[in-house]
Amino acid sequence: MHLKNVENYKPLKNKLMNNALFQFAHPANEPVKEYRPGSPERVALEKVKKQSKEVVEIPIIIGGKEVRTGDMGEVVMPHNHKHVIAKYHKVGEKEVKMAIDAALKAKKDWENTPWVERASIMAKIGQLLATKYRARINAACMLGQSKNCFQAEIDSACETIDFYRFNNYYAGNLYSEQPASSPDQLNRVEYRPLEGFIMAVTPFNFTSIASNLNMTPALMGNTTIWKPSTTALLSNYHIMQIAMEAGLPAGVVNFLPGKGSLIGGVALNNPNLAGIHFTGSTATFQGLWKGVGVNIANYKSYPRLVGETGGKDFIFAHSSANPREVACAIVRGAFEYQGQKCSAASRAYIPKSMWKEVKQIVGDMLSTIKMGDVTDFTNYVNAVIDEASFDNCKGYIDRAKASKDAEIVFGGKCDKKVGYFVEPTVILAKVPNYESMAQEIFGPIITIYVYDDKKYEETLELCDSTSPYALTGAIFASDLKALQLADQKLKYAAGNYYINDKPTGAVVGCQPFGGSRASGTNDKAGGLWNLIRWTNPRAIKETFVPATEYGYPFLAK
Ligand code: NAD
Repeated sequence: MHLKNVENYKPLKNKLMNNALFQFAHPANEPVKEYRPGSPERVALEKVKKQSKEVVEIPIIIGGKEVRTGDMGEVVMPHNHKHVIAKYHKVGEKEVKMAIDAALKAKKDWENTPWVERASIMAKIGQLLATKYRARINAACMLGQSKNCFQAEIDSACETIDFYRFNNYYAGNLYSEQPASSPDQLNRVEYRPLEGFIMAVTPFNFTSIASNLNMTPALMGNTTIWKPSTTALLSNYHIMQIAMEAGLPAGVVNFLPGKGSLIGGVALNNPNLAGIHFTGSTATFQGLWKGVGVNIANYKSYPRLVGETGGKDFIFAHSSANPREVACAIVRGAFEYQGQKCSAASRAYIPKSMWKEVKQIVGDMLSTIKMGDVTDFTNYVNAVIDEASFDNCKGYIDRAKASKDAEIVFGGKCDKKVGYFVEPTVILAKVPNYESMAQEIFGPIITIYVYDDKKYEETLELCDSTSPYALTGAIFASDLKALQLADQKLKYAAGNYYINDKPTGAVVGCQPFGGSRASGTNDKAGGLWNLIRWTNPRAIKETFVPATEYGYPFLAK
């Protein structure tokens, strides 16, 4: 891949500005390609097999320069874990400090670059992903994160591209938001970036999120140090390279593979930390938040903490729902990408009158699902991300097998000889607070609680109170009163609430994504809400004819 040298980038001094007020048109979502046998996109993706033979050497990237420490780690394919696909250089404390310095240095020019020029680089990254690098990024995501072609397409291609395009559109809206003025004064708001650097800490499961957690702050004039997830390094490194090719100036994003606690430790101790843009587990986010709390008196500003974290996402069926629609939502919602979506359905409440039929249909559907390597396009389910995840899933399955409060209805087999394969598993919980009804597992396991049809309202209350999370949830019903009651009882149970649809698959610009309670700060990635967090507005009042007397009329005798 060709890397453009942008090291000497500087905004032109005394540059002629055209003073145009610029606004990006409302974008359309990037169309999702289908990958039918023989289609051009499918043929292009056949390169997957070729790419898997490469072992990519991934450097650290600081200030636009590749840095090699020689302290190496390996990235393996989750579905074939003896196969190394990348080797990466790990950062030490020194490199993290260098990256913070590079981010602070780059910020001076970057924040003074006209926003349309920043946006133009973002749009170009999006377009490179949509065209020249679509197959390559999808292949990297398939091989490195074990996604089938369709899951890779909706993540590393479409959602990533949508983030770039929609953020530009919303940034224009935000910047045009200005206060009132009057004949004697001119008021305006200047949307400065935050003062300092941003740390973006990104998860394994979405390439789009990894990209977006850096590029949203960058669009608003900030610079970042990026802690990518080790298990997503291959696709994340491609994103970094494509951003550089698109002209992202040196030091705007600094790419730091390595140990999270080491990188976090150095960043949290730096007085210039201006914000953390995080997606990952609740425990990690809470750890970072605590670290900020401990250091709060040492920072120049109060760091903005934006985090999207875990979920215990539900499907709730009322007796008026269509059983087949409920079953389909369970299978797609719980097992696509092996349940490793923050929004994945991981508990379901089914009325007794419907359970037999739902169970039958889910069973029939599961009997047709194949699991295996991503290069076999007939596999719906692939591997979970790593051994820790495999062991965690197996632990829940083994305990369910042994428990008097649970029963394995479908699946339950696990095998890690070649890859980390966990069969799509349905657990039936006999008590509503059984551990897998309440705790996030992050694997292809859904737990079902069958409730008495007459206890609809109290089961809704149970759903609301069983887990600490509030990310996504779905209600299935055709009865209007039942829908209204669910709407009211589950008001705070999900930040993304679906009526007669699975709780996964939020689309940028259509279902702004994020949840509250233990699930995060709900700053809705890919929208105005999120952009606002990366700006530090300065209100400017200019008076045309300043006062010359200090008194007021009320003082008169
Ligand atoms: P994780 O918390 O294990 O890791 C996230 C990132 O944090 C990784 O890059 C990791 O290396 C880094 N990290 C870990 N400890 C750190 C520390 N002390 N300092 C700095 N960085 C540190 O999460 P994961 O396994 O990558 O992702 C899965 C989790 O992410 C699930 O809980 C899922 O629900 C959540 N998630 C949430 C959303 C959402 O929008 N709510 C989206 C995707 C994933």
